[in-house]
Amino acid sequence: MRVPMIAGNWKMNKTVAEAVAFVKQVKDQLPPASQQETALAAPTLALVPMVSAAAGSPLKVMAENCYYKDSGAFTGETSPRALYAAGIHHVILGHSERRNYFHETDELINKKVKAALANDLCPIVCCDDTMGRRIAYDQKIHWVVNRILADVKDLSEDEVEKVTIAYEPNWAIGTGQSADPDQAEEGCYLIRQTISDMYGSKVANNIRILYGGSVTTKNVGALMAQPDIDGALVGVASLDPKTFLQIVNH
Ligand code: 13P
Repeated sequence: MRVPMIAGNWKMNKTVAEAVAFVKQVKDQLPPASQQETALAAPTLALVPMVSAAAGSPLKVMAENCYYKDSGAFTGETSPRALYAAGIHHVILGHSERRNYFHETDELINKKVKAALANDLCPIVCCDDTMGRRIAYDQKIHWVVNRILADVKDLSEDEVEKVTIAYEPNWAIGTGQSADPDQAEEGCYLIRQTISDMYGSKVANNIRILYGGSVTTKNVGALMAQPDIDGALVGVASLDPKTFLQIVNH
C-alpha cells in the first residue's frame, strides 16, 4: 500500500522566524502519518529550528537539496550526513530549478540520490518534462523515460523503495497552469512503467509518485484521484498556512 504524501516546497522563501511560526500553526492539524504523510521542504537555515518546532507532530521537515559527498572541501554545499544527524530525513533532489539555474545534470543527480540513500535520507527525485504542454506523446516518453533511467539507476531494491518521484512538468511550475489530471496521470504512469522496466513490477507498485506544478486547493482532489498519483509537491500554495492545511486535508 502506498501512503499518500503532500509535500510543500517553499523554495527560497521565508525567514527562520517565519518558518518556525508556520510549523507551530499547522503541526496539530495534520493527518496521522500512517494515513497520509505531510512534509515541508525549506531553506537550509530554517531546517533545524523547524525540526524542533515540529517535535511530536507527524510533520516531516525536508531539505531542498544536498551534495553527494558526506564531508570535505566543498564550500557552500550541504552534507547528507549532517542533514540526517540533524533529524532531517528527506531531501528533494533534481528539482527543475536546480537543473535549469544551477546546471545540475542527470549524472550529478544520480550521485546525490545514492549519497542520500547511503545516509538513510529518503530522496524526492523530481522528473521534469520540459516539452511544451501539447507535444507529441513519443517526445514526452523519450524525455521522461530518459530522466528516470538516468536519475535512479543502479540502486538496490531496498533503496529504490525509499525513493519518491515527483513528476513536475516545467510548463506547469509557478505558472498557475496545472497539468490536467489526465496529463498528470500520463506522466506519472510513464514513470511507474519505467521503474517497472528497471526494477520490476513489485517495486513499481510500491514506489510513491507525486505530481507537482500549480497544485491548488481546487485541483488537488482531482489530481490525487488518478491511479498513479500518490500525492502532490506544492510550491506557491504551500507558503500560506491556511491554504497548505486545506490542501493537506482536502
Ligand atoms: P508551484 O506549485 O508554485 O507551481 O511549484 C511547483 C514546484 O516546483 C514544487 O516543487
